[in-house]
Amino acid sequence: MDAVVGLNVDLHSHSTMSDGVLAPADVAGRAGVNGVQVWSLTDHDEVAGLPEAQKAAQEAGMQFVPGVEVSVTWARRTIHILGLGIDFTEPELVAGLSGIRTRRVERAKEMAKRLDDAGVPDSYEGALPYATNPSSISRTHFARFLVAKGYCKNMRMAFDKYLGDNKSASVPLNWSTLEEVISWINGAGGRAVIAHPGRYGYSAIEFDALFNQFKQMGGVAIEVITGSHFPNQYREYADVARHYGFLASCGSDFHSPSESRVDLGALPRLPAGVKPVWHDWV
Ligand code: AMP
Ligand code: MN
Ligand code: MN
Ligand code: MN
Repeated sequence: MDAVVGLNVDLHSHSTMSDGVLAPADVAGRAGVNGVQVWSLTDHDEVAGLPEAQKAAQEAGMQFVPGVEVSVTWARRTIHILGLGIDFTEPELVAGLSGIRTRRVERAKEMAKRLDDAGVPDSYEGALPYATNPSSISRTHFARFLVAKGYCKNMRMAFDKYLGDNKSASVPLNWSTLEEVISWINGAGGRAVIAHPGRYGYSAIEFDALFNQFKQMGGVAIEVITGSHFPNQYREYADVARHYGFLASCGSDFHSPSESRVDLGALPRLPAGVKPVWHDWV
């Protein structure tokens, strides 16, 4: 197990197929240069980048794990569930993700109306050029537009002022349910993983309910080491993984060389005492 834990593993990253800025092959290339040995591309609600990523990962000598990061609404908040090791051609998964992306486009138009009301005109047309894959249009693309046009100094301020949950241009959306997303992932032979649990503002009671329901519905892992966790949360979520019997995952959540806090392959190894989600994949 030590050899498995000691690998440089990065199972969470984004490309231009969702809200990252590098093409799938370029994310793979950067991961390889950074020393990643086991890598997953996990675009939001989209698997279209995986064939290119797989080929580039092989060329870079990395083991490839096909992945996706799915948007879920649970207890009135958005959470993200990673599907790792999926068969990305599985029809139910593909259809489910396609349905989510349709809702993304409708919501983007609604967000543009709210930005208009807030004094920012033409933001749908403005954000669209940042979305290489128009059906994956996200708040990140609006944020890049707001920064480029000088409405906000940086991405964080774009979320703080307009795009964050409950801010003037945020549009609450009913994504998919936890149950259906876990069933798509399991139906595609993958493992369902709660992404960056430390980012959700649930109470202790809600977290306990989330972890129990997730497990009961067939979820098997949580991210312990992620670019979204502060170091004190590594230990906290390692304890959660042990307590609920979850496997542990590790991923940078890389989006962009200039925007991301943590680069591909730059995270520490899992703490002792947790079992890696990739334990039988390498
Ligand atoms: P969406 O899926 O359209 O709701 O957009 C969510 C995406 O916005 C996330 O995947 C992050 O990439 C990005 N994001 C969320 N909050 C922030 C923030 N405070 N600063 C920068 N990016 C953020
Ligand atoms: Mn994102
Ligand atoms: Mn996420
Ligand atoms: Mn992500």
